[in-house]
Amino acid sequence: MPGFFTSKEVQTVARAKDKTFTCASCGLYLKCNSPKMRPFGNFKKGILNIGEAPGEVEDKYNKPWQGRAGKLLQKTYAKLGIDLFEDCLNMNAVSCRPSNEKGDNRTPTNSEIDNCRRFVLRTIEKYKPKLIVLFGGVAVQSLIGYRWKNNLGSISKWRGWTIPDQDFQCWICPVFHPSYILRSEGGVEEVVWKNDLKQAINLVV
Ligand code: URA
Repeated sequence: MPGFFTSKEVQTVARAKDKTFTCASCGLYLKCNSPKMRPFGNFKKGILNIGEAPGEVEDKYNKPWQGRAGKLLQKTYAKLGIDLFEDCLNMNAVSCRPSNEKGDNRTPTNSEIDNCRRFVLRTIEKYKPKLIVLFGGVAVQSLIGYRWKNNLGSISKWRGWTIPDQDFQCWICPVFHPSYILRSEGGVEEVVWKNDLKQAINLVV
């Protein structure tokens, strides 16, 4: 039976199959306040939200989505009838906060994403979500990148798709990251983001 993607696009064997991914080879856990942050939420509607990485506020409270981006997501989900922490489970592609020399948040590196992917895969295996929402390019890279043959492309290419994932037997919906919406507030991106979230939620409620 034909799949959602062609065999030219997807690969069945992980690209870096002979490399071992560990926390020791990443090292981020040594530098943050809340190492190896656990997934958080009561998961009542079977939705798994995957963000990028904890920021400064999340690292302080040891919980995902505690800062400005999280508040925007919480408010937007509430308007769709979804309680972020009651209905969903929340985690990040990278579980420890990446920071730069000045102590500011930074985007995780490819190697940090690779080293942390096993936590993401283990969480999916354990909870068996009905829907996985991927917030931003780093989450797409974590969950789709290792199965994709060619150039993965940016979140603009992926957002808006509702993917029936054969490997995880659930829907995968990539959407913009709420930090991007905060930066472009009032722009068309916010409308697109809300529509994408609504479309995703409608798959499971
Ligand atoms: N940004 C993320 O990607 N995840 C969080 O938990 C908070 C902000």
